[in-house]
Amino acid sequence: MLVVMYNDASEKQIERVLEISEDLGYTAIPNPGARRMVINITGDVDLSNVSRLEGLAGVMKVIPVSKAYRLADIEVKSEPTVIEVGDIEIGGKKPVIIAGPCSVESYDQLLETAVAVKDCGCDILRGGAFKPRTSPYSFQGLGVEGLRILKDARQKTGLPIISEAVDIESFPAVEDAVDIIQIGARNMQNYSLLKRAGRSLKPVLLKRGISATLSELLSAAEYIMAEGNSNIILCERGIRTQNNHTRFTLDLSSIPVLRSMTHLPLFVDPSHAAGKRDIVIPLARAGLAVGSDGLIIEAHPRPDEALVDGSQSLTVEMLHDFMESCRNSGYWQNGLEVKPGVIS
Ligand code: PEP
Ligand code: MN
Repeated sequence: MLVVMYNDASEKQIERVLEISEDLGYTAIPNPGARRMVINITGDVDLSNVSRLEGLAGVMKVIPVSKAYRLADIEVKSEPTVIEVGDIEIGGKKPVIIAGPCSVESYDQLLETAVAVKDCGCDILRGGAFKPRTSPYSFQGLGVEGLRILKDARQKTGLPIISEAVDIESFPAVEDAVDIIQIGARNMQNYSLLKRAGRSLKPVLLKRGISATLSELLSAAEYIMAEGNSNIILCERGIRTQNNHTRFTLDLSSIPVLRSMTHLPLFVDPSHAAGKRDIVIPLARAGLAVGSDGLIIEAHPRPDEALVDGSQSLTVEMLHDFMESCRNSGYWQNGLEVKPGVIS
């Protein structure tokens, strides 16, 4: 890291920085500039020491050069991570589409959706059994019963299933039932949950928190990876901005930027960003156009009756038409080798 001193920093203040850096086990090399002193600090730098140095008298700023994440870093592994779920490759050439209702509401609702999701040509079935709701009085999901219904749907359709683990207590039940464990936006910085997911053998779809930077998202992934699980899919699902015309703002630029930062597969969730079903499909297309490895989309056979997120759930017909238009595009036929921007 670099410690930049104020231009009027005294010799004594500079000495103190050198002394503390060396006490921390680093090598500190002073580089006097025309206007100010910059101290170059090398060694196995622990980023938690940044604030210690930043607090010293005479220090203007500390610029960390090493990153808070290592295992997720593209500099450590340049080939893309491909996650196999049955015979589906996530992060391979073909975009993978996950679809299904926001929440599992009943056996009939989920089975009907699962059959439609399969008929539309989607790859994986989603459905929340445990729902993280803003209000404690809102429907919280069917819990373990919802997981049982999801497992039935997998058995009847052959579709792998994904569902969210909202806390440590419910984690083992979710882990046992699903093919992919979802960690939601609200839990992106729930470190004990991330560590627990890191000890799982199942892949994890990790959503970006609504105010998280990309490096915070990668640090969250790092928590999972540091425990031994490197099968992580990162998911852009919209962040909070001053925009009040959609539920969240889909940060499409995060996909190509993350691509340059990490080897992990990248997904887009157009549904939670849009909040309204008419906006979901344009955002889904945009998500593919910026190079995501797949989408997670909410769909419901009767969105008007949905207990959660009905307004953003596609009808089965909409999902069908979207998938049909994808299949007809050269992009789909040739996979991600075709440059983004060619989806009609
Ligand atoms: C969901 O996928 O239903 C969900 C709650 O998503 P998020 O964590 O992105 O809000
Ligand atoms: Mn939802």
